[in-house]
Amino acid sequence: MPGTILAVEDEQAIRDFITINLKRSGYEVLEAGSGEEALSVYDDHRNEIQIVLLDIMLPGMDGFAVCRKLREQNKTVGIIMLTARTQEMDKVGGLMLGADDYVTKPFSPSELMARVDALSRRLHLEEGTSVEEEDTVTSGEFVLNMKSRTFSRAGQPIILTQMEYQIMKYFMENPDTALSRSDILNHVWGENYFGELKIVDVNIRRLRMKVEENPSTPKHLLTVWGYGYKWSQG
Ligand code: CA
Repeated sequence: MPGTILAVEDEQAIRDFITINLKRSGYEVLEAGSGEEALSVYDDHRNEIQIVLLDIMLPGMDGFAVCRKLREQNKTVGIIMLTARTQEMDKVGGLMLGADDYVTKPFSPSELMARVDALSRRLHLEEGTSVEEEDTVTSGEFVLNMKSRTFSRAGQPIILTQMEYQIMKYFMENPDTALSRSDILNHVWGENYFGELKIVDVNIRRLRMKVEENPSTPKHLLTVWGYGYKWSQG
């Protein structure tokens, strides 16, 4: 059952395009034309909003700042950045601030909906299945609790986004196993995801900042050169 999406975009024509396509797929849509308005609409509808589509180039407060504010308030709301620029740094910048995904403008309706549907499905899937699974996975000092959807190291909570949580779960269920970047992409983002492998690297980089004592010399999230990554309890 599709949920409610907040579309944040200052260009009316693009916002209309997004809204029409989301509604056609059965989503409820709320709209905002600026960063400030986005935060106020989010405040009023925080229990309904499942995903925020967030343009980067906004008048006043930009999408990066909005993303940071949203993540301070809510670790689990889905965030998809809309980027008009093609520089890698912008995409990486948004993801480092906690966005789950990004779509580069101009995008087709099918590309937009594929990303939104994939994230929405994942959010619902997590709500529905977590109770039936084993409650916790432990690896060394690390504990992933699937009932409370929390992650901790030596009893200290580590706050993860949806994607980071899914990646950690995949690693901790497959310890000391080299997982290829495409395995991780398919497992976490789904087979129909048409983004780039780069998103895996960005999420690993972000996870290292949360998990590793020294992110530049990781002891747990190890690189398997030319292949992918491996989880070691260290
Ligand atoms: Ca814009």
